Amino acid sequence: MPLAEYKKKRKFSKTPEPKPQKASRTGALHFVVQKHDASRLHYDFRLELDGVLKSWAVPKGPSLNPADKRLAMEVEDHPYSYKDFEGVIPEGEYGAGDVIVWDEGLYTSSETADPKESREKLRQGYGEGELKFVLLGKKLQGGFALVKIRNQKGGKDNAWLLIKEKDKYASAKDVTKDTKSVKTGKKLPRDSKRP
Ligand code: MN
Repeated sequence: MPLAEYKKKRKFSKTPEPKPQKASRTGALHFVVQKHDASRLHYDFRLELDGVLKSWAVPKGPSLNPADKRLAMEVEDHPYSYKDFEGVIPEGEYGAGDVIVWDEGLYTSSETADPKESREKLRQGYGEGELKFVLLGKKLQGGFALVKIRNQKGGKDNAWLLIKEKDKYASAKDVTKDTKSVKTGKKLPRDSKRP
């Protein structure tokens, strides 16, 4: 069961997060980036694939600069409906803290815009530890790659790098300076305190 780990970590009587349900999906693929003020601030980078959201925690957040390689730790699959989740995970629960939808939109494989072929290419890329895709978000656009770091002996095997491809959307501008939710315009309380 793909969402077993997601389910195991949470008490759905306590958390407002979506229940573990796999979605039946065709058509265009979605991505979301949530900004999550948990015990450590991070961005959750999520790509829809096969009815769930493949998920990575990116401590520094995405960059539009192809020279940056952002560490992305793969975490458990999340339900597709998690892409709309914005709210507060209560104190004492797994991932306690505020969550906003920092960016969202559609995405495709870098090799094809066709949703069905994209799924095949992405499935294959995920299995091989090298995902190449094009984001059509509000903050993030153009080509990106997620590349799995080869496992060192005894090392963790969930570390990937998130890298912007060189294209017309590449930029040296710090995209994380824009702290607003693209869904509601809200900011995390920690960002609202700043001028
Ligand atoms: Mn998180």
